[in-house]
Amino acid sequence: MALARYHSKRNFKATPEPKGRVGKPGKLPIFVIQKHSARALHYDFRLQIGGVLKSWAVPKGPSKNPSVRRLAMMTEDHPVAYAKFAGTIPKGNYGAGKVEIWDHGAFRPLKKAKFNSRDVSSGQLEFELKGKKLSGNWVLFSIGKDKKAWLLKKMK
Ligand code: MN
Repeated sequence: MALARYHSKRNFKATPEPKGRVGKPGKLPIFVIQKHSARALHYDFRLQIGGVLKSWAVPKGPSKNPSVRRLAMMTEDHPVAYAKFAGTIPKGNYGAGKVEIWDHGAFRPLKKAKFNSRDVSSGQLEFELKGKKLSGNWVLFSIGKDKKAWLLKKMK
């Protein structure tokens, strides 16, 4: 159950977030970055891989400067429908606070036709973003053995 963690953290009678389900991998996979004004402001970076949105919380948000690496903590998979979610998660709920769509668009893996969950476990993802704010080539790579902590940076 790829979304079991997502569902277990939320009470869908109390939060406007989508319940969602695992979808088909998209032909043109999408990315979204949601500015999340929770207890601590962060940017949720999500890539559509294998029918879900693989997700990282980036406390400082992405930097367009290729020499700046930004910490990206992997979080639970989200349903693809979450890419369209903007709104306020009410107090008392997981992630309470405002969610805004900061950027969105398509992405393209650089070295293969599409990513699967094994690419995520490999701890290295290189892709082109085709968003409104962000474009060009980016890399996400894990820095710990447990693949929780990653770094996000723009490629030179
Ligand atoms: Mn968040």
